[in-house]
Amino acid sequence: MAKGFFTLFAKNIKKSMGPGQYQANGILVICVHCQHDRFESSQAQLNTALATFLNFDFANRSAITLTCHRCGHIHWFNKKVNRID
Ligand SMILES: [Zn+2]
Repeated sequence: MAKGFFTLFAKNIKKSMGPGQYQANGILVICVHCQHDRFESSQAQLNTALATFLNFDFANRSAITLTCHRCGHIHWFNKKVNRID
C-alpha cells in the first residue's frame, strides 16, 4: 500500500519534468526532422509474441524512444540515453 503510493508519487515527479535534452553515445540528440533538441522519453518493448514463444529471451529487449516535443517525430534507441537538462 505505502509502496504503491510512493510509486505513484515518483511517476508524477517524472512526468512533471517535461521535455528535456538528451545525449546518446555522448552526442546531443537533435530531431532529424525539425532540428529541435527537446524530447520526451519513454520505454518501448521490442519483444514479439514469436520471440517469446521460441524462448528467445535475448530478443525481448526494451528500447528508448525520444519523441520530438515540436514535431512529434519518434527516435528509437537501443542503448541508454542520458538526460542532460
Ligand atoms: Zn522534430
